[in-house]
Amino acid sequence: MAKKQFKAESKRLLGLMINSIYTNKEIFLRELISNASDALDKRYYEALTNPDHYINRGDLEIRIERNPEARTLVIEDNGIGMTDKEMEANLGTIARSGSLDFLSKMENKDNANIDIIGQFGVGFYSAFMVAKKITVESRSVADEEAHLWTSTGEDGYTIEPAERSEPGTRITLWMKDDTEEENYSKYIDETEIRTLIKKYSDYVRYPILMDVGIIERDPEDDEKTVTRTQEETLNSMVPLWKKNRSAITEEEYQEFYKANFGDWEDPQKYIHYSVEGNISYTALLYIPSQTPYNFYNGDYESGLRLFSKGVFIMDNAKDLLPDEFRFVRGLIDSEDISLNISREILQQDRQVKALASSIEKKISGTLTDMLKNEREEYEKFFERFGMNFKMEIYRSYGMKADKLKDLLLYRTSKDRTWTTLAEYVERMKEGQNEIYYAAGKEINELEKLPVMAKLRDKGYEVLYFTDPVDEFAVTMMYEYEGKAFRSVTKGDLDLDTEEEKQEKARLTEDSKDMLEAMKAHLEGKVSAVRLSSRLKDDPVCLVAEDGISIEMERILSQDPTGRTMKAVKVLELNPDHPVFSRMKEMYSTDPASIDEYTDILYDQACIIEGLPIDDPAGFARRIADIMTKAY
Ligand code: ADP
Repeated sequence: MAKKQFKAESKRLLGLMINSIYTNKEIFLRELISNASDALDKRYYEALTNPDHYINRGDLEIRIERNPEARTLVIEDNGIGMTDKEMEANLGTIARSGSLDFLSKMENKDNANIDIIGQFGVGFYSAFMVAKKITVESRSVADEEAHLWTSTGEDGYTIEPAERSEPGTRITLWMKDDTEEENYSKYIDETEIRTLIKKYSDYVRYPILMDVGIIERDPEDDEKTVTRTQEETLNSMVPLWKKNRSAITEEEYQEFYKANFGDWEDPQKYIHYSVEGNISYTALLYIPSQTPYNFYNGDYESGLRLFSKGVFIMDNAKDLLPDEFRFVRGLIDSEDISLNISREILQQDRQVKALASSIEKKISGTLTDMLKNEREEYEKFFERFGMNFKMEIYRSYGMKADKLKDLLLYRTSKDRTWTTLAEYVERMKEGQNEIYYAAGKEINELEKLPVMAKLRDKGYEVLYFTDPVDEFAVTMMYEYEGKAFRSVTKGDLDLDTEEEKQEKARLTEDSKDMLEAMKAHLEGKVSAVRLSSRLKDDPVCLVAEDGISIEMERILSQDPTGRTMKAVKVLELNPDHPVFSRMKEMYSTDPASIDEYTDILYDQACIIEGLPIDDPAGFARRIADIMTKAY
């Protein structure tokens, strides 16, 4: 029989598993039981929706067999099973999309071992942490034939025909030999297995059965004991979410999350509640404590697990969760949802809409409470998932702004700590009508923007926008509590007093010809050259007219479609700076002599704004020329 090779990426993952130094190897049992439970869910769903495949729910079960002599452990279920094609597809390749990508990023790091397990749970392959050989015998409900999949690890696997009278899957693990560091025998030990099932799989809704030894008094001889074997259900089977909240420990909530939602870290928060009314349901929701590696890049699957009266219907039901809360994981159990509901119907179903809106309110309320009462926790949460709120405000063209605006946090020039918009507005200076923000890549850069010196002097606080989406989001939001958002490098900031304004008008009039000449020299680059009221220590800055800002131009220029949009730029000069006086002097004796200065100032302004300059070599040459002239 020909041996088939694992797909390259699976082979790498397997290699990691086989040589794993991971200390928590016991999770393999949780993963296999969770797969068996999923297979039973699918089987029961099939039974209810297809009369040909009917089976009594009470007959669905998971069985564990131990054989210490042969050093094997068997996990068997009478679930949906797999055809040979499915075995090939499911066990020959990494099931979880994105793992390969992640794997290649992690490969050269020391913690690869831990993190890959943490990120993906890695499912079936985790059994290779403890077993040197694995067989999977399976028969699909949809097939008369059974098949046997065998693998001893990285060198590949075989699939051959097998005998099996009923649908289901039987997985046999041949345990590795014990070493000085690792005791693999314990995974065949009765007490150990009991403990592991209680710890990780107690709430699996199907019985996990195992033959256990019962020590009894010998009926023949009172002085002696005999051991009799008896089948026992190792798990309590009550789904966690059906239990009373007060009867559930913190640890149980966390274990349930890790066992069911493919995360390794404890969640940051859980929300467990029931609603009775037009639509009745129980929800167990979790906020993860780490951002899934693929959360912001497209292939992250969101949605909740949906049950109807304890019967599993589907995974990743997206319509139950608005996109702004797509980081939430968890499940919903509702008796008002029909078992036969399909993904397509889900979208239009009235009950589902009511359900979704109730869930949305609950999450939003929980986050609002957290912000109010557990500020530090909320800030941690926001650092992980807050960008998603801004993206949703932008994507919805501002329609979601009302719902989300009070959940936003920004760092500001006050002390770099997080602030809400409400707190910012509360602190606004008397007479300040707009919310000031500065957008750029990093706070360090923003603090050094020429305009910041003046704003600091005048006592204005500025929000720091360092996520690329920030400025786009507020463009869609437009205002908060009647205060418009204003980029400090855009349009007219109106920082001057009446006196200062008059003085500036006088100076402008006085320098009109020179400003015109500079504008003519910078034809096509700027729409105007004017005197600035936003500069203190620096000679020059580049600002945008109302509309798209320079930072937005920079972000849009990275658009892979090559689409570009340009800001309408204005060069602003600081009339209090010696460079300005110098230029005026030069202009009065030889008007053409200021061209070189104009070019340099323009390029400097571009550099400060993080824009590329047209002719870097020319810029360097001009600076060198001036340096030479100075002596
Ligand atoms: P995941 O469970 O995250 O999909 P796994 O690697 O654990 O990833 O399993 C891969 C796939 O193999 C499962 O999605 C399922 O289709 C199939 N599978 C695993 N165990 C069983 C089982 N006991 N019965 C039926 N199918 C199974």
